[in-house]
Amino acid sequence: MITVRFAPSPTGYIHIGNARTALFNWLHAKRRHGRFILRLDDTDSARSEPRFAEAIVEDLRWLGIVPDETVRQSDRFALYDAAAQKLKAAGLLYPCYETPDELERRRRLRLSRRLPPVYGREALKLSDADKAGLEGEGRQPHWRFLLPNFADDPFAPQSTVVEWDDLVRGPQQVDLASLSDPVLIRADGTWLYTLPSVVDDGDLGVTDVIRGDDHVTNTGVQLALFDALGLARPRFGHHNLLTDPTGAGLSKRTGAQSIRGLRAAGLEPMAVASMATLIGTSQPVKAFDSLRALAQTFEASSASRSAARYDQSELQALNRTILHELSYEDVEARLRTVGIEGPDAAPFWQMVRSNLERFEEVGEWWGILQNGPEQPVPFETDEDRAFATEAFAHVPEGDWDETVWKRWTDGVKAETGRKGRALFMPLRLALTGRRSGPELADLVALLGRERTLARRP
Ligand code: GLU
Repeated sequence: MITVRFAPSPTGYIHIGNARTALFNWLHAKRRHGRFILRLDDTDSARSEPRFAEAIVEDLRWLGIVPDETVRQSDRFALYDAAAQKLKAAGLLYPCYETPDELERRRRLRLSRRLPPVYGREALKLSDADKAGLEGEGRQPHWRFLLPNFADDPFAPQSTVVEWDDLVRGPQQVDLASLSDPVLIRADGTWLYTLPSVVDDGDLGVTDVIRGDDHVTNTGVQLALFDALGLARPRFGHHNLLTDPTGAGLSKRTGAQSIRGLRAAGLEPMAVASMATLIGTSQPVKAFDSLRALAQTFEASSASRSAARYDQSELQALNRTILHELSYEDVEARLRTVGIEGPDAAPFWQMVRSNLERFEEVGEWWGILQNGPEQPVPFETDEDRAFATEAFAHVPEGDWDETVWKRWTDGVKAETGRKGRALFMPLRLALTGRRSGPELADLVALLGRERTLARRP
């Protein structure tokens, strides 16, 4: 079975770019009846916070993503220790004692000798006595993974290309000779993300890893780790990242474009999900009404190679389209939570939905329907007010239905000679207090005679 995972670190609120990764995984898996694991990458206990972990679960749920399984890396240290032991025993994880300053000096030296600025594996030359001496001085080692980029002599790396067929980008290559042996364990004993991620993907049976294209080089290293640990390689896919309109990257730390914020701004989850998924792909950005519908057409390989600029105004436009197409059945429960129910509720929604930018605005229109415009009504001139007062004297007798409005205004036109905007705007203002809004024929039909007459200025 296809198994994917979304692996955020709970160090902030997820933003629309993180949602893109979650959605790519979800849609890819659900289209194939697969499983979705939420993995909280919380090995960094100083920066990870339970409140952010909870927020991630909530934000995903709001988007329509309910994981089949949730795991925390902080519960799984024993697995990482065991993997590290295995690598150490094979001589593939070795202790290093350099300080950042020493590493920087060496890097510069290599550059000045026109050598690639990668770690020269100097620590591999340390004898047991050297190591004991360094530890005696109080230095704690950090641990590097010996990349398999050499034949017999680790000090003579040679081009070693790792290849995979990327789910998004097609055939990919990383040359391990161009990389430093990655640090897997810091001097304070904490884990970098590289090894735990591989161990978990292996242990949890992850078959497809879809993540941002900032991880392409990591994938070269991690594939070497899967091999070194004897774990089956998953398929990998790297999607393009989203940036803000200026081209700057999104960051969990700044809170910009957080899913929380978009939700608080009253956006519909499917507007956010459609945008987060489809922007920067070869598929048109349009509003889907469910993740299931989106999954039916979604292909991870439709993502472009370059970063996609995301502009919130396009999201607003998608939001409008979604609202305008929601049926009363879709929103009945939500309307009830804001006190909109009873016989008027369904025709009211039908009438008002195409005027909404955000769902919340529905409450203002309901207030206008039930209680009339807020006073004072902003007529443009006293003459307009007088005209409206007179026009209400011509509200027709007889059946009250969708034809009332036409009968009424035809009559007013004949009586007063007013037409067009001069006729309709004062009536719109008298009925709603607003210069724009729903079709007045629908509104008047819904108001009924009594509530209409009550609006006579
Ligand atoms: N915690 C990592 C990140 O957020 C996960 C990367 C991955 O999907 O492997 O970048």
